Amino acid sequence: MSDERLKRRLYLTRDCGTCKACCTLMPVVELDKAPSLACKHLNPQEGKGCTAYETRPESCRSWACVWRSGSNVVEPVERPDRLGVMLDTLRPLPGQPRLDVLLAYETREGGFAAADAALSRMARKRAIVFMTGEPKVFGTQGAVDAFLSGAPEFAEAIGLRAAS
Ligand code: SF4
Ligand code: SF4
Repeated sequence: MSDERLKRRLYLTRDCGTCKACCTLMPVVELDKAPSLACKHLNPQEGKGCTAYETRPESCRSWACVWRSGSNVVEPVERPDRLGVMLDTLRPLPGQPRLDVLLAYETREGGFAAADAALSRMARKRAIVFMTGEPKVFGTQGAVDAFLSGAPEFAEAIGLRAAS
């Protein structure tokens, strides 16, 4: 099964419901949309999402919400608006291996603190990069080292010091 078909199938398993986190938090270069600002295409009605879904830009099409993908890393009850944290993956550069690392964004103030138990559980097996506020990486020493040495350009770009 192709990645796209698998993604479509998995996306049927979890529904965004009233969550609209990604359409606010993520930048959309094609729309000149800055991070942490609601998209102009976002429907303000509760339970409604994108008003331009069929023609949404590639940035939106390629975005893969870890919760919505049905990943067992995140429990069904941990939808981003409920958990307080939205999770993304780090897409590898061409020719580079995929790293098991999560990028975490607060969906509300204090989200990281509220989700501390869930984030600690997830961090037992991988590094988690906190993208809201001052960038920090969290996890076992081995996972943190693997992330810093596997994605030094990304770590530097967000202000984390790369491993020497
Ligand atoms: S962050 Fe995930 S669950 Fe929330 S609206 Fe976006 S895709 Fe749906
Ligand atoms: S275009 Fe649609 S999917 Fe993309 S950020 Fe805006 S509301 Fe969300």
